[in-house]
Amino acid sequence: MPEVENTIIIGSGPAGLTAAIYTARANLRPLVFEGLQPGGQLTITTEVENYPGFVDGIQGPELMDIMRKQAERFGSRHFYEFVDKVDLSERPFKVYVGGNVHLAKTLIIATGASARYLGIEDEEKFQGRGLSACATCDGFFFRDKEIMVVGGGDSAVEEANFLTRFAKKVYVVHRRDSLRASKIMQDRLMANPKVSMLWNKTITKYLPDETGQLVGVTLQDTKTGEEADTPIEGVFMAIGHTPNTAFLEGQLSTDDSGYLLVTAHTNTNVEGVFAAGDVADTRYRQAITAAGHGCQAAIDVEKWLEANDE
Ligand code: NAP
Repeated sequence: MPEVENTIIIGSGPAGLTAAIYTARANLRPLVFEGLQPGGQLTITTEVENYPGFVDGIQGPELMDIMRKQAERFGSRHFYEFVDKVDLSERPFKVYVGGNVHLAKTLIIATGASARYLGIEDEEKFQGRGLSACATCDGFFFRDKEIMVVGGGDSAVEEANFLTRFAKKVYVVHRRDSLRASKIMQDRLMANPKVSMLWNKTITKYLPDETGQLVGVTLQDTKTGEEADTPIEGVFMAIGHTPNTAFLEGQLSTDDSGYLLVTAHTNTNVEGVFAAGDVADTRYRQAITAAGHGCQAAIDVEKWLEANDE
């Protein structure tokens, strides 16, 4: 039988890696499964300017590398592997990775959420080159530019309004002729002179310049099917997020969208299983809040082991 770990951390964004730093410094020798996108969502952004401590900003991938090294310095063990499933029905918990099973007294689920994209050709190549899914992170880079926000929900409306602080013009591209967003937010959007609506439209292609930077899109009319190219300097995707909870196969309580529900502190409904970061956060979704949440989960693990570990 494999050794029973004190804690296994699943996920390697700011929440998972901060949990790794804290549990490692508590001498718990955490085992971290980093998943398919080691470093999480920050590895697909470029400059991070709102993470405290970096006066000139820092590249997202570099920030995550630093966090990983900091955790490893205290004995955290990292594997670039994907957790297929877990079994929380008995203790120790079982974590299935490839053909192996790992055992743990506690788990920290920090698998994050993934912004939804349109799923059109070469989309990932434009991420960080004019295409973003985080207005708070990247809005600043679009000062005095003309940009589009895709979506018709509260996120799209909120982000479009927010982006008018920077952008010269914000076009909201929506596939239907009415918004899903709440009325009060719609009213605010419609009153904003920098915003124009592009109803019944969807993006079918991103257009690059010779360096690969986004300089335009092909817009399709969802009613007539007609297509036209239009220049644009940035596109923000706001068509929702998907929490990465499928591998849990319903063993933990979630809200209707699949986000983990935490009760007191970072506890899930299964004792000894804790959640941190975007996988349990539909509101803030920031690197710094995820890191803080990861710290809390690590302290909750420590306290749980103190109270329950014989
Ligand atoms: P959402 O409410 O699910 O809206 C997603 C939007 O994207 C919808 O308008 C949808 O169009 C569109 N969409 C989805 N897939 C698309 C595709 N493939 N192509 C084009 N458009 C697509 O997601 P959200 O706006 O991120 O909000 C998530 C939750 O957080 C909601 O409950 C929301 O109320 C809440 N939230 C609240 C606030 C706030 O109160 N301040 C702010 C942000 C979010 P259709 O309308 O045609 O389906």
